Amino acid sequence: MKKTILVLMMFTLILSLFSSESVENETNERVNLVVLTTGGTIAGKGTSETGSAYIAGKVSGNDLIEAVPELGHIAQITVEEISNVPSQDMSIDIWLKLAKRINELLNQDHCDGIVITHGTDTMEETAYFLNLTVHSNKPVVLTGSMRPSTSISADGDINLYNAVAVAASKASFGRGVLIVMNDAIYAARDATKFNTTNVDTFKNLNGGPVGYAHYGCISFYSSTEKAHTVDSVFDTSDLLQLPRIEIIYGYADSGSLFVNAAIEAGVDGLIFAGVGDGNGTIETLEALTSAAKKDITVVISSRTGSGMVYRNSEYDFDTYRFISANNLNAQKARILLMLSLTKTKDSHTIQQYFDHY
Ligand code: ASP
Repeated sequence: MKKTILVLMMFTLILSLFSSESVENETNERVNLVVLTTGGTIAGKGTSETGSAYIAGKVSGNDLIEAVPELGHIAQITVEEISNVPSQDMSIDIWLKLAKRINELLNQDHCDGIVITHGTDTMEETAYFLNLTVHSNKPVVLTGSMRPSTSISADGDINLYNAVAVAASKASFGRGVLIVMNDAIYAARDATKFNTTNVDTFKNLNGGPVGYAHYGCISFYSSTEKAHTVDSVFDTSDLLQLPRIEIIYGYADSGSLFVNAAIEAGVDGLIFAGVGDGNGTIETLEALTSAAKKDITVVISSRTGSGMVYRNSEYDFDTYRFISANNLNAQKARILLMLSLTKTKDSHTIQQYFDHY
């Protein structure tokens, strides 16, 4: 009889271990994550299950987490709101606040990683900014949704579940800031939103994802070669603003109007999203050179969205005093130039930053 009771007790104990809500990671430690909310469609509610219209900022961070109780199986989660904006309204102020808060949190022993919920429109910019200003090896993962929670086949819950799983995984350490959307994991530097409405909107147009997340099951296949996080020289912790950089778009028969307006407005730098391999009309290139002569740093990117801009291939960058964006798209080149100009105005050093980060 005694033996039966003992066996029963052991069986109950084993069962309770397996059904426990507090799942532990690979090293049997409790994983503590902080979810920082910034807004976006993931926090929006629509009026119809089949329409694309929605109102932003209707779902609180706690509501987001409570909607996916399975998250409790992966980690202990606390939520903080950083902002509540659609990401077209993301700002330098919010970036600085976000970077500061993440650095503070990740410096604490009891914070193992961060998940940021964010609108998809400018998610890649925030991700790249944090990739260069967060100085920690702990995982930082951005996610969002293309459909509001009220839509048929809403994608927010599964994206959040996968993002939490990636942030809780030891395999994500030291990989820089990551974006998790639609079952794929991207390095912040490489991901771009390339479709207006499709749930499969994030791509690395110069390669592929670094891994996949399938119902919380994580597989990594590659990693970025470019420096990030703990290897970044950029520190925004004491900054209240960043240099002003504008983007000029290239097209057939473009003139000097927008470049001259930018010079007039007193910008610190310009990104030119040129045609093809960073090309532009003579008139636009000459306007950009006059900007460079006025101490405005000019970086040449491409409107094609992928591929390297090679120095001196169809015109001489040295004569024009231009810097190549490497293979960064214009919006990411803007971020790197903003950060570069907090360190130096030397074009040789800035070119090295563009080749390194
Ligand atoms: N406009 C929205 C935003 O970026 C789109 C989205 O979240 O998918 O906030």
